[in-house]
Amino acid sequence: YTGNSIQTFIGDYLHKIKVEDTKSFPVIVSEETTIYDAIVTLFLEDVGTLFVQNKDKYLSGVVSRKDLLKIVVGNQDIHKIPVGMIMTRMPNIVFVHDKDSIYDAALEIMEHEIDSVPVVESIKDQHGEVQYKITGRISKTNITKVFVEIGKE
Ligand code: ADP
Repeated sequence: YTGNSIQTFIGDYLHKIKVEDTKSFPVIVSEETTIYDAIVTLFLEDVGTLFVQNKDKYLSGVVSRKDLLKIVVGNQDIHKIPVGMIMTRMPNIVFVHDKDSIYDAALEIMEHEIDSVPVVESIKDQHGEVQYKITGRISKTNITKVFVEIGKE
């Protein structure tokens, strides 16, 4: 390979691989979940970020390791405070769709300096408003896996 054709090959590959080809299962909690239970879920499910859904089961927020650490360090009652009070909330959530490329997902993760993004399906609710159902998760680990695949070829 010449330098140029390697770059073209990798570039094509990253645009060809879709989010739906590489996404992982999302780990989802409700807004009422306590901070304590959220931390236990992080350990049990072995993820760094939890996605939060509202009563209608639509994406409403994201809670990260550091969001949780902040509350613990602040010495607040982690058995009483719900994640809904500390999460990063819609409309500030960065997400991707199944048909986006893995490059699109990597770009979002890099530009917003976050570890992962929820994969969503857009649907209209009974009021005609667009809502998002969580169908997966793309994290830096998924991006790394794609690079390992490229390395194998
Ligand atoms: P950590 O805070 O554990 O290092 P992140 O870097 O992913 O994890 O999160 C940094 C901040 O960005 C946190 O406050 C978190 O709630 C928020 N965040 C994480 N993922 C997203 C996302 N997909 N969209 C919007 N905000 C996010």
